[in-house]
Amino acid sequence: MDQQHATADYDLAIIGASFAGLVAARTAAHRGLKVAVIDAKNEPGARVRTTGVLVKEAVDECDVPAALTRKIPGVRLYAPNGKHTDLTAPGYYFLATDTAAIMRWLAHEASRAGAHMLFGARFTGATRHETYISLHGLGISTRYMLGADGAKSSVAKAFNLGRNTEFMIGLETEYEETPSVDPDYLHCFIDTQLAPGYLGWVVPGVGMTQVGLAVSNGLFGETRKPDYQAFLNHIDTRFAFWNCEVLRKRSGPIPCGGLVSPLSGYRVLLTGDAAGLVSPLTAGGIRLAFQYGRRAGGAIANYLLDDGPDPGLVMARDYPRFGVKTWMRRLWSAAPPNALLNATLFTPPMRALAKRIYFEKRRTARGRFPQTPSECKNYAL
Ligand SMILES: Cc1cc2nc3c(=O)[nH]c(=O)nc-3n(C[C@H](O)[C@H](O)[C@H](O)COP(=O)(O)OP(=O)(O)OC[C@H]3O[C@@H](n4cnc5c(N)ncnc54)[C@H](O)[C@@H]3O)c2cc1C
Repeated sequence: MDQQHATADYDLAIIGASFAGLVAARTAAHRGLKVAVIDAKNEPGARVRTTGVLVKEAVDECDVPAALTRKIPGVRLYAPNGKHTDLTAPGYYFLATDTAAIMRWLAHEASRAGAHMLFGARFTGATRHETYISLHGLGISTRYMLGADGAKSSVAKAFNLGRNTEFMIGLETEYEETPSVDPDYLHCFIDTQLAPGYLGWVVPGVGMTQVGLAVSNGLFGETRKPDYQAFLNHIDTRFAFWNCEVLRKRSGPIPCGGLVSPLSGYRVLLTGDAAGLVSPLTAGGIRLAFQYGRRAGGAIANYLLDDGPDPGLVMARDYPRFGVKTWMRRLWSAAPPNALLNATLFTPPMRALAKRIYFEKRRTARGRFPQTPSECKNYAL
């Protein structure tokens, strides 16, 4: 392409057709940009790497169809000795999802908004010219690029942007639906021998049951690997998964070191896991991918169409910092002894902390859950 008279093929090329990339594509295309979404997968919903549980706030960011979800009102928290306590908050719920179907729906929505979907196309590098960027091997040029390509972002690498350096490793197996799992709870297992640095889970999913665990490296960087079989042995007297058909297995890295830096360069920006937008405490990234994917799509449209401010500067102000949460997570990776957890997990201060972590957004300004109509009104404000 002649650099002096360049007309790029697209205004915006988004690498990664997952939660962040597809929501950004829908917004940017609705705002009038010519958008391409590029993903190495052959089709939307292929090779899902997530449990896909949504916190309630995720639905406020992206109205996912109820038919693709299952409501789970509470959390059942298990101590290492098997005792458990139930946590709920008025009006709060989690959503288990048919994640592959949600991906197909999001891709359809982005397409309907006008974005071009290019599946089976891997981003391997790009050359930046004065007014456009050309993508190697794909025969595509674009005015702006958004890296929504996950925890180990190739866009970050290609443009010398910040990259995630701290990860948890998650492993999960999907079983056929089983009646031994109470469907009203996310079952979370605290055990620093079996899941040091995070926890294990059993999720009553949409038409199946998901069983997984994640671990983080030690406080001083010692490598840890999840031992799925040991975790399964620990919980199987309760659930009998040995008796259930295995439908799928998955694993993946979960960034847990907070925001990467720098987040952007000239005409290129990172979002979602690529930017480190995962809560270090809950390891949840989908709500943030929805929220900031949409914001990033809008900021890029403002920049290209209306001479708006640099999207990198806008998002650097908007993206959350996770400072305290990152340090709390690092502390948890020290893996306090199970005996200590057995003795303290269900004490009032620990229950309050667990409630704060799971139902954070439901607290009022005064630090407790809204009880009266006037408190609910204040909370809404
Ligand atoms: C085991 C596990 C369980 C989890 N459970 C939950 C949970 O229950 N709830 C929650 O909120 N979060 C969970 N997370 C975190 C959550 O999955 C991520 O935060 C979320 O998927 C991030 O979305 P994203 O769009 O940024 O990137 P991703 O979902 O990682 O998608 C990146 C996309 O980029 C594509 N891609 C990557 N490289 C290239 C390339 N070079 N060229 C073209 N395409 C490329 C990939 O194919 C992929 O489609 C979990 C993570 C793991 C690993």
